Amino acid sequence: MYQLDGVTKTYRHRGQEIRALDNVSFHIPAGTFVTVTGGSGSGKTTLLLTLGGLIHPSSGTVAVKGDDLYRAGGNRLAHYRNRTVGFVLQTFHLVPYLTAMENVMVPMLLSEKDGRRREEKAAALLDKMELSDRMDFRPKELSVGQQQRVAIARALANDPEVILADEPTGNLDPALASEILEIMESLNAAEGRTILMVTHSPEAAQFGSRRFHLTQGKLREGAPDAAVSGSSHTSSLKGVQ
Ligand code: ADP
Ligand code: MG
Repeated sequence: MYQLDGVTKTYRHRGQEIRALDNVSFHIPAGTFVTVTGGSGSGKTTLLLTLGGLIHPSSGTVAVKGDDLYRAGGNRLAHYRNRTVGFVLQTFHLVPYLTAMENVMVPMLLSEKDGRRREEKAAALLDKMELSDRMDFRPKELSVGQQQRVAIARALANDPEVILADEPTGNLDPALASEILEIMESLNAAEGRTILMVTHSPEAAQFGSRRFHLTQGKLREGAPDAAVSGSSHTSSLKGVQ
């Protein structure tokens, strides 16, 4: 699904250069559940937005099914963002004055001409998220867990192959977080969608079948604990010597 080669992203801030992604390369087959951990400022959001077609890397290539995403024309990039990927974010980014149903229909405005079909699809997605009795509620009339489920329904609006989730459980208490993680798991296991979820939570990261860790823009495969115990092991060996 994704092949990244030497992806580097630097931001300029008041003349200072910030390397948010540093030479990131990986290959992710379709249908994989990927989790990426990393502390605040390690580059998680930048990585996700780069995969989402929203941040042009400073160097390196992002290939989607073999095609260089950022060399595709603007239309193809827009199509990719609207159809191939669905975004789920920490702060749900629901439109406050729209109902749950209307929020879910927003991404369909470009893809589904038939208004009735849009309503049917949105209703089915909200039903799947167990929100059929909340369709005409506005975000502030919903609990945070329900808001995140509306956001997931919206991410699924155009039946995307890929879900890109940026700390989707970051604003939720543990019980709600596991509810959302179970939904993510079923979107992968039962529906075969590729999932990339960035999180600072080691518990959430357990859901990945491929786990990566970011440190100052550098990506490494494996759990962060492995690096910690690895280095302490090395230093204790040095101690022995
Ligand atoms: P994370 O999501 O892991 O917290 P980010 O990808 O948001 O990390 O940020 C990585 C680094 O890039 C941070 O040091 C952050 O301050 C910097 N950064 C992010 N976005 C911008 C921007 N638009 N301009 C300048 N620096 C940025
Ligand atoms: Mg972030």
